[in-house]
Amino acid sequence: MKRILVTGGAGFVGSHLCERLLGEGNEVICLDNFFTGQKRNVVHLLDNPFFELVRHDVINPFVVEVDEIYNLACPASPVHYQYNPIKTVKTSVMGAINMLGLAKRIRAKVLQASTSEVYGDPKVHPQTESYWGHVNPIGTRSCYDEGKRVAETLFMNYHQQNGVRIKIIRIFNTYGPHMHPNDGRVVSNFIVQALKGNNITVYGKGDQTRSFQYVDDLINGMAKMMATSDDFTGPVNIGNPGEFTILELAQKVITLIGSKSKIVYEPLPSDDPLQRQPDISLAREKLNWEPKISLDKGLVKTIEYFDQLLKES
Ligand code: NAD
Ligand code: UDP
Repeated sequence: MKRILVTGGAGFVGSHLCERLLGEGNEVICLDNFFTGQKRNVVHLLDNPFFELVRHDVINPFVVEVDEIYNLACPASPVHYQYNPIKTVKTSVMGAINMLGLAKRIRAKVLQASTSEVYGDPKVHPQTESYWGHVNPIGTRSCYDEGKRVAETLFMNYHQQNGVRIKIIRIFNTYGPHMHPNDGRVVSNFIVQALKGNNITVYGKGDQTRSFQYVDDLINGMAKMMATSDDFTGPVNIGNPGEFTILELAQKVITLIGSKSKIVYEPLPSDDPLQRQPDISLAREKLNWEPKISLDKGLVKTIEYFDQLLKES
């Protein structure tokens, strides 16, 4: 049995990770400031004596004895990370420093949930880990993109300078149950709009692309990365290479739900990346990992979740 700290553990991805780690017989400490996370995501775990929920902000130091740290604390939806951009930078940068400092002191292994946003609006397609990216340092998305890039720098520096055992994964757009219904990201927005019969809000012409990964595939990739040998630090892309336009996604959601919702077009937010698709050759080679769940299958599971949630509210 390992003792494991998950920062951002009450969020969408973090709550699935806590569940998985507990299921494997570990002791889990879930740390969250509940900015975008919700107690309802972890309420079913509270009876488990090996689960602890701690309200704490990662910009402040946190001391605990653990074997492994998964650092997920950071809002991931553009709407939420742009709400207080200075706080977003602090969360990424000071959160990374605090978790790396902790890992150094207690000799824990630490995994950083980085992002495809480090590639910005990419000029290389699909994106390989060797691509340095095309990021606007002063745009609306830069608090998140640059914050995550500095976090990667810090992880490499602590590894090289202090021998901290690190793991960096670059996560591509992930969706599934436990997303907040008002999260603002495209999959949850479209599903909630279609279930309510509201207009589906496509930003721009809807010809921008994303590659959508179901959350279970991500959790498998995270666990494999943490378990692999210490000499593989990453960064490694974890995403589903299936690439779709946003308009295709809207049409899929409408069809799967059988909704009467109409598609409406709204302005494209600034610096919105035009295309995004992971090259996952490195994950295949080093982790023997690849996603298993198609967009259609994953959407059906996610629709079931939101349908139930809306019925309860
Ligand atoms: P989320 O917003 O659902 O979860 C983030 C969690 O972090 C929330 O519970 C939130 O309350 C918590 N948090 C935020 N700031 C905090 C702080 N200062 N101190 C403590 N807790 C704080 O987002 P998610 O989709 O679950 O993303 C989890 C991680 O994965 C994030 O680091 C995100 O950048 C990364 N990621 C996610 C995706 C994706 O598509 N879901 C893609 C790339 C990277
Ligand atoms: N998007 C959209 N309608 C929405 C929400 C998002 O058309 O209601 C678009 C958004 O402009 C972007 C894509 O969907 O091009 C993915 O947006 P999301 O916020 O989910 O993630 P990110 O842009 O960070 O990949």
